[in-house]
Amino acid sequence: MFQKVRLRLAALCAGITGFILLTMSCAWLYISERSLHKNSFVSFQSDMNTIIANMEQQTVITHEWLNKLENHGKYRINIIDNGVPFLYNERNNQEQKELFSAAWEAYESRFQAESKESTYADWHEEFPFSYGGIDYYVCAAISERKNGTFQVMILFSLATLGHQIWLQRFLFLGLDAFAIALLSLFSWYFTNQLLYPLEENQKNQVQFIASASHELRTPLAVILSCASAAQKAQDAEREHFLSSIREEGTRMSLLIDELLLLTSTGSRRAMEKEPVELDTLLLNLYESFEPLAKDQGLSLRIELPEEALPPCTCDSVGVGQALSILMNNAFCYTPTGGHVALVLTYSAREEAFRISVIDDGIGIADSEKARIFERFYRTDPSRSQKEHFGLGLSIALEIINSHHGRILVDDTLGGGSTFTVVLPSKIKD
Ligand code: ADP
Repeated sequence: MFQKVRLRLAALCAGITGFILLTMSCAWLYISERSLHKNSFVSFQSDMNTIIANMEQQTVITHEWLNKLENHGKYRINIIDNGVPFLYNERNNQEQKELFSAAWEAYESRFQAESKESTYADWHEEFPFSYGGIDYYVCAAISERKNGTFQVMILFSLATLGHQIWLQRFLFLGLDAFAIALLSLFSWYFTNQLLYPLEENQKNQVQFIASASHELRTPLAVILSCASAAQKAQDAEREHFLSSIREEGTRMSLLIDELLLLTSTGSRRAMEKEPVELDTLLLNLYESFEPLAKDQGLSLRIELPEEALPPCTCDSVGVGQALSILMNNAFCYTPTGGHVALVLTYSAREEAFRISVIDDGIGIADSEKARIFERFYRTDPSRSQKEHFGLGLSIALEIINSHHGRILVDDTLGGGSTFTVVLPSKIKD
């Protein structure tokens, strides 16, 4: 599913940017071509001004002068003196004749109404003209003299300019194609980065649902089998099955409570953050665990700093829950006769509290330390109690993370585990 979304997003991203790029390129090409045409026409007009003025001053028009003027084929010249072509040399072939007669016709149809009764130095016209698929600029000059009419036509082929324009178009097309290919690659990479957290989240959710269903299936199977056994059993036996059903039901309800807690912390439920006296919170926690310590034959101690502490801005219920989980684990994984300590310190330099739950119990292997915060992970399920589902540490981690804090796990000197919660004293939302 994500692959499809990725493909669509990448195509959309590359498509939109590619379209914008192409539109901008077309606009740029249009403007540039217009100005190229305009500039070349202006330059042609200024050339013609010079040439025609020059021609006016010539008393005799020689072939050498005309050859020079033709400038190695840059211009084509046609002179008609009193209706007689002046320059029909070897170059004035049939094709050239047709070209000039078409140009003269175009001139006639364009400038019929214009005056021709001045010298051609004062009066000449330049205009664009197309013949045989080739564009030209034309300069036409006509002079009425006492001894007759003198007509001059100069043609400038735009083939070179056309080549230049096509070259520019191909260059832009190539550059655009290259940019679009790069954009597509970038979009593909970018959408991957964008979708990666969503993909991971979805995988985690699927994993979570699978694990939760698996955990729920066990007590449910026991309940169902006990229920059918209870139906067939004698009165005395039935009570035993019913108590098993009650026990498994309670276990299921415990698991559901933990799942709900995890999803609510996972969705970052609105925590009520307020200034909290952490030493008081820890003292209350210590007192609530004292009876359990007595029951389990564990020694429990608390260490608080002597000096006055700043308040910690946090959700006291959430932090209390996280610390209870750590305490519960310490009690669960420390055999009778062991020691559990709750220690609070404050670093003014780091502006952070450190709350350590230290036990001298079974400890955690180094290879397991990174994994114990995963949902439903238990190092040795056979050693955990039935109501331990491997969710406690992930719940605690979610809560502390939402306070921008950390949970560190270490070995206790001499054996056992030490879990340390690092909480900044001021939490920015
Ligand atoms: P559980 O509810 O099973 O205790 P947790 O997420 O709280 O789940 O802990 C995950 C695993 O980490 C436990 O199964 C246990 O193996 C290990 N663990 C947690 N705390 C301790 C501890 N204080 N000492 C030894 N092992 C611990």
